[in-house]
Amino acid sequence: MTYRVLLFYKYTTIEDPESFAKEHLAFGKEIGIKGRILVANEGINGTLSGTVEATDRYMEKMEADPRFKGIFYKIDEVEEHAFKKLFVRPRKELVSLNLEDDIDPLEMTGKYLDPKAFKEALLDEDTVVIDARNDYEYDLGHFRGAVRPDIRSFRELPQWIIDNKEKFMDKKVVTYCTGGIRCEKFSGWLLREGFEDVAQLHGGIFAYGNDPEVQGELWDGKMYVFDERISVEINHVDKKVIGRDWFDGTPCERYVNCANPECNRQFLTSEENQAAHLGACSYDCAIHEHNRYVEQHGITEAEKAERLKNFATKNETVTA
Ligand SMILES: [Zn+2]
Repeated sequence: MTYRVLLFYKYTTIEDPESFAKEHLAFGKEIGIKGRILVANEGINGTLSGTVEATDRYMEKMEADPRFKGIFYKIDEVEEHAFKKLFVRPRKELVSLNLEDDIDPLEMTGKYLDPKAFKEALLDEDTVVIDARNDYEYDLGHFRGAVRPDIRSFRELPQWIIDNKEKFMDKKVVTYCTGGIRCEKFSGWLLREGFEDVAQLHGGIFAYGNDPEVQGELWDGKMYVFDERISVEINHVDKKVIGRDWFDGTPCERYVNCANPECNRQFLTSEENQAAHLGACSYDCAIHEHNRYVEQHGITEAEKAERLKNFATKNETVTA
């Protein structure tokens, strides 16, 4: 393994994100890293890949900058780059809960749990563990017994909690996400909403999977990642597949995007079922005039009509 993937963030003040982004992009190109780095007034959030040497240089440079000192890097060893290009983008916020009055995690955030303490929380009956990621991430893999908010975007999370508040209000609440950045804000928001005992998994699922002691135990399935690998293993103790094919419910860990460019929903399905349903998540998406699957595979009208019947069959089964 001669490459690495780094996942990191830090809430810190960056005065001029625009010009910082330009300089940072130039530096990243110079040392040969690829990936996606977001910068905002509230800090930095990145996932990048590069050789061991390049990632070392990156971390050294960051460590020498007082704003970025002490970043907790989640490191995976890989065989090649996990990105095609490098983007460094200025943003208004690193992650958004769509709040009028945003949370500053430097002022308010939940307690940090290390992997071992988090594992104990998973086993504690008085603790509710909430997955702070999106539905499609949960469906590929999650901690055993964790609550799955029914949301397609992080922005919807506060409203979902408000709607389901009575389920959690009297319990200890622990949250987790991929690398920890979403939980910094989310757990802070829970405290502001009046939840009293709120904690978060420090370093996210990533750190939990790489921890030599817990080794990802009590995690089921795979973890969705935002790079070309799409998903990675977390549980190195007793792994099981929990992803289910969107169409027939058989075990599946293969992600696709809905072929309707206006939908783009990510779902799990086999190559066969994807083809049989024209790459779409629903009948309405399948018949969309710009269905990418139809365009890319040069599917004829006659063939399209034939495959659309697969949706009709499925609907009959469901209502029967
Ligand atoms: Zn769709």
